[in-house]
Amino acid sequence: MYKHHSALGVALSLKPAAPVTLIRPQAAARAARFFSQKFPGRSLYAVKANPSPELLRTLWSAGITHYDVASVAEVRLVARTLPQAKLCFMHPVKAEEAIREAYFQHGVRTFSLDSLEELEKIVRATSGAEDLELCVRLRVSSEHSKLSLASKFGCDLADAKELLMATRQVADALGICFHVGSQAMTPQAYTQAIERVRAAIVDASVTVDIVDVGGGFPSTYPGMEPPPLHDYFRAIHRAFESLPISYSAELWCEPGRALSAEFSSLLVRVEKRRGNELFINDGAYGALFDAAHLGWRFPVQLLRPEANEADLVAFSFYGPTCDDMDHMAGPFHLPADVKAGDYIEIGMLGAYGSAMRTDFNGFGTDALCEVADEPMASLYRDEAVVPSQSNVVQLRR
Ligand SMILES: *Cc1c(COP(=O)(O)O)cnc(C)c1O
Repeated sequence: MYKHHSALGVALSLKPAAPVTLIRPQAAARAARFFSQKFPGRSLYAVKANPSPELLRTLWSAGITHYDVASVAEVRLVARTLPQAKLCFMHPVKAEEAIREAYFQHGVRTFSLDSLEELEKIVRATSGAEDLELCVRLRVSSEHSKLSLASKFGCDLADAKELLMATRQVADALGICFHVGSQAMTPQAYTQAIERVRAAIVDASVTVDIVDVGGGFPSTYPGMEPPPLHDYFRAIHRAFESLPISYSAELWCEPGRALSAEFSSLLVRVEKRRGNELFINDGAYGALFDAAHLGWRFPVQLLRPEANEADLVAFSFYGPTCDDMDHMAGPFHLPADVKAGDYIEIGMLGAYGSAMRTDFNGFGTDALCEVADEPMASLYRDEAVVPSQSNVVQLRR
């Protein structure tokens, strides 16, 4: 892979005609060390946020040993890329064939579920295995998050007693998991959800071995600057410690966005300017799905060698395909004199960016370049985490 010291350096020396994904393994490693050293439990990486093998290897080297996978293709990918990783199949509605392959061919023992039907399916597909770690997914509120995950999955509190008791009968280890929605803007999202976990445990009177607080940990974007992750960890730890569970119970989390957002950005070229609209060479069908469809704002910077004195002006972007939906409203603030031929870096696209890319209309691309400069924003820049060479997860309680 081509390596360069900076995004500007790539733009100036390569003058790429197609968009280039700029990867920053050192930023992802810093995030991984932060979670593996500071989260008061075990951190699983949620692979769907960004399944790039470069990222998987980076996270592994920085101490992430467990991976949250949701499809048989993700199971195979991680098993192939990181043969020693522990895989947890955390999609509550799985194909029976996928469960069977995961259990018998890839050694997967951890599965989530939110219904009795899924429990029966898991038991059938694993031929009544007695070494299963089964996590019951509770439905919780997404009110504090920018992206809801509250409608599709999760067992209601009213049905949790029966499901927890039935799962306890067949599980070697019983867990309760939830997902507060992505980009949770306050630690309260987790403490409220953990209150629901408490109610479920009390109601069912079962021994719970794992509490998995899921993903949702935020990254930082324009207009969406969250409180420090320390505050989340502290609040989660305190709420976990007060649950009616045994001293040996484990606390897990499943960050996707927080571990991957800083891993990559995108280098695009302006092909045309029309007023305050820039026609760029990547868009809604490329790495900018969230910018187009959720109105998500990403940081941008103009890459020119000389300092720019022009005032910042709000722009919107059109992507390269031939339809109106390929539009990113922004606003994206750039110097007033931006013109065709300029290069722009769009930051914080490591999570749900390149993972969403398609080849629609012939504009797919897989150009990658590693750069050594800082990501455009970071939650981890000032964190003194000790570089670790080991994959041993230290569980701190
Ligand atoms: C998507 C997902 C995650 C990751 O969520 P983020 O908001 O990216 O942290 C974790 N767990 C499950 C079950 C998911 O579906």
